[in-house]
Amino acid sequence: MLRFAGIVIAALIMSGAVTKALASANALDDDLRETFILANTEFTIFHEIGHAAIDQFDIPVLGMEEDTADFVATMSMIHGHRVEADIRQAELLLMAAEIWIAEWQGEGGVSGDQHAYWDVHSLAIQRFYNIVCLVYGSNPEALPDLLDTDALPAERGFVCEDMFEQSRRSMQWVLETYGRNEETRNPGFGIVLEFEDPVTDTQKQMRRLLKRSTMVSRLATEISARLDWPRDILLRFARCPGNPDAYYNDRVAEITICYELLEHFGRTIDEQGAEMIERVCANPATRRLFGDRAGCALPRESGAAR
Ligand SMILES: [Zn+2]
Repeated sequence: MLRFAGIVIAALIMSGAVTKALASANALDDDLRETFILANTEFTIFHEIGHAAIDQFDIPVLGMEEDTADFVATMSMIHGHRVEADIRQAELLLMAAEIWIAEWQGEGGVSGDQHAYWDVHSLAIQRFYNIVCLVYGSNPEALPDLLDTDALPAERGFVCEDMFEQSRRSMQWVLETYGRNEETRNPGFGIVLEFEDPVTDTQKQMRRLLKRSTMVSRLATEISARLDWPRDILLRFARCPGNPDAYYNDRVAEITICYELLEHFGRTIDEQGAEMIERVCANPATRRLFGDRAGCALPRESGAAR
């Protein structure tokens, strides 16, 4: 599961007129909004694929499976977008990280009492730092100004290169052990896509966006070719009224990603996009890399860090 429970409550409270007012006040350009939704959908797909792979190949997990699924998602996106070679390709990962700050704040932030400390998922704010740490560790020379900012305190930053290398070797081991090769036993199996008929206008918009971007079909093809899946894995986009989530069902080998989750991504950028951009502009590293895209104003005199 991906778990966005905290924000569901906030989203329900903020539904209706208040949401619409905030959305229009913080309106961002459509391209940035769509990129944000797709970035978080991509992260979600890889996260659930992590669960599916652990189940289907019976991969031993030393630690929390949910953390592992996040690491699989982050490493897959780092590799898929060639972030090691070009740090500017980390834009989608920044967006996937930012939503966890939004989640954390939706639960009340540092003084919040909505945090599920008991949960199988790490706290939202930890999920943010885990993504940022691996991105930094993938290419530290390109991100010297990220270290020792609020986005990556030095105490964490110093271990990120080792953490990235450990994750890279683990991913490589999985691909070598369970990957497709000349001895592949199950060439006919892979990821099967299904788009349930949407009902609401926003669900229809989300499905159109998914089809237009081709991201989902491309990932399904790549993931099918990469691992020697012992059976088909159904990846379905579905209606889940009142439940903006994503999950893998090991009994039937199905991944469900709710249209409601994609709507939630859209609401998050509508309502908190302005604060996200403020954070991007306030951090010297993200401002340097993505300031143009985020529309940051003139450079600040001091190196304000978030
Ligand atoms: Zn999960």
